[in-house]
Amino acid sequence: MHDFLVIANWKLGGNLDLLSRYKQFFQKVTLSGDLVFLLPTPYLGFWQEGISGASLGSQHLDAYTSGGYTGCVSAEMLQAVGCRYVCLGHSERRCHFQEGDDLIARKYVLAKSHGLVPVLCIGESREARDTGLTESVLRQQIEAVVTSDGFQSLPKHTMVVAYEPVWAIGAKEAASIADVEKVSAFVQNLLAEYGQSARFCYGGSVDADNCLALRRSAFVAGVLVGRASADYADFKSIVDRCLVVSN
Ligand code: PEP
Repeated sequence: MHDFLVIANWKLGGNLDLLSRYKQFFQKVTLSGDLVFLLPTPYLGFWQEGISGASLGSQHLDAYTSGGYTGCVSAEMLQAVGCRYVCLGHSERRCHFQEGDDLIARKYVLAKSHGLVPVLCIGESREARDTGLTESVLRQQIEAVVTSDGFQSLPKHTMVVAYEPVWAIGAKEAASIADVEKVSAFVQNLLAEYGQSARFCYGGSVDADNCLALRRSAFVAGVLVGRASADYADFKSIVDRCLVVSN
């Protein structure tokens, strides 16, 4: 099986106690693949020596580098506290904070040029899906990034793209494997038109029951886990099924 990526997105949840419980648990296990924790900004500085075998990521980045932007977070600051990854384009940021494709493209370039790995989230709304617009929405979200001026000047790299259909986030049910695989093929073909490729991940109600089928799919290189990643027992089961080689 291919090298798998598990990304934990605590959203506005979790706490320092949960972080230390994970630190203890992961000291005892050996992982295959990659594990990333996207922590809320105030907890990033508590990563310090980290979680064994895992990387730190931020849920947020602003598009400014310094100056009069009270409350903002720069790529340099994320780097300074040990972040390797940053989540961009999450539908909750697109929806609640009006983050549009152009802004996300600028953040992508900023992150990448500061040595961070952007996790580019894309996904269609329920309405777009029901009216057959899934592929055109995804095309627009991806093309906004790969055709932006800044992107063209970045060194060639494998992107990390997380397909997160909006209707499956925080829902009762995930997308079907058939749907995810179809989108994966679409995304890779689209990226190939631009000479790019991606580690294609799926997110949206991933849990201990559905993660194995995703893990086994040749079209899926990782999962982005929201709610279940802030639940110690649930997340342990997901990691056990997707990444643990010995304990
Ligand atoms: C997410 O936060 O990106 C997510 C997919 O959430 P959930 O797993 O809770 O649906």
